[in-house]
Amino acid sequence: MHISKDKVVSFHYALSDNDGKLLDSSHGHDAFAYLHGAGMIVPGLEEQMEGKAAGDRFKARVEPARGYGDFDIQLVQQVPLEKFGGQQVEEGMQFQAGEHGVFTVKEVKDGKVLLDGNHPLAGVTLHFDVEVTDVREATPEELSHGHVHGPGGHHH
Ligand code: ZN
Repeated sequence: MHISKDKVVSFHYALSDNDGKLLDSSHGHDAFAYLHGAGMIVPGLEEQMEGKAAGDRFKARVEPARGYGDFDIQLVQQVPLEKFGGQQVEEGMQFQAGEHGVFTVKEVKDGKVLLDGNHPLAGVTLHFDVEVTDVREATPEELSHGHVHGPGGHHH
């Protein structure tokens, strides 16, 4: 069975950046499972999954625009510390800022907080080493929920 829309795909991956530094890996865990065509994985990888079958191994290079986005300097902003209402603010903390998504604290200095709303992998060219382990039809329930049930997916 080949990967196409509405198939449930399980795969193992290792993700590296341009310098070959390992960023993430599924090895040692369950294979990652997703519903193909539902936008659950970055578009540049989903495109390259199309047509593959269980047992296929391949490398996929994904540019930032088809991955986690280009780095947007507009999403980096400085906010006065007093805006945080006296709560402890430390480098590396993350805040949900309504519909603007997640902001990460990059620096706290002189009563000011530097926030970055970019995804941690924004601007990074992604190098995936992929091994497809299983391809199957999605169940009607999975299609109506828009995600995968069972190993590597949702449990509920
Ligand atoms: Zn569900």
